[in-house]
Amino acid sequence: MSRQPLVAGNWKLHGNKSMVRGLMDSILAAVAESDTTEVAVMPPYPFLAQVQELIAGAGATGVRLGAQNLSIHDEGAYTGEVSAGMLVEFGCQYVLTGHSERRALFGETDQMVADKFVAAQRAGLQPVLCLGETLEQREDGITEAVIGRQLDAVITQSGVAAFADAVVAYEPVWAIGTGKTASPEQAQEVHAFIRRTIADMDAKIAGSLRILYGGSVKPDNAADLFNQEDIDGGLIGGAALKATDFISICKAL
Ligand code: PEP
Repeated sequence: MSRQPLVAGNWKLHGNKSMVRGLMDSILAAVAESDTTEVAVMPPYPFLAQVQELIAGAGATGVRLGAQNLSIHDEGAYTGEVSAGMLVEFGCQYVLTGHSERRALFGETDQMVADKFVAAQRAGLQPVLCLGETLEQREDGITEAVIGRQLDAVITQSGVAAFADAVVAYEPVWAIGTGKTASPEQAQEVHAFIRRTIADMDAKIAGSLRILYGGSVKPDNAADLFNQEDIDGGLIGGAALKATDFISICKAL
């Protein structure tokens, strides 16, 4: 089963207009050359319109836009929230759900993540569902139990069929922004577990589901990770802010 590789850059809370312009100019120039790997950038909300215009202006075929978060609500008295429909209007195709920083720093529970997953799909966005264990959980030998629980919460709410229009990202919490990367074998083991869990319910959906790895991916470790059978690309944080690094990670696929 061939799955189109995807590299998504999560810019987190970084950027200003001139940095966005410089970063996008480099990415757009480099990515126009490739048609095999899909590339997505996920800037903070205020820069979505600017990035949307830059992508359109460059006529870039392989570059997609995504957001880092969304509201579970479509509209209403929810000050400070941004709905999935608004993201679609600004050209987004992807949105992160369940990033470990949202879970740990903003109290997002498995149920809230499942609600966001549903809200994203209701508007036609592809959720990128992030799953990951902490170092303590890994050392306690409960990695699969944790990932299974995070995945089940979404399957219970949406059904396994919803994964035909979603992406999963395995991001061990201990590897995010720490410089510690899961070894290709460690990552592959969890990716295979995720695919097996979905396959037990629907083999076809499992076969076409893209499962990204995230956690200190850099130009020098990307190829070894991406060579693993069940790793279909990367969710990149720190290295997504440096054009040369991000582009060489994309080219590692
Ligand atoms: C992330 O925030 O999703 C991430 C993977 O960050 P980093 O690449 O910096 O570890």
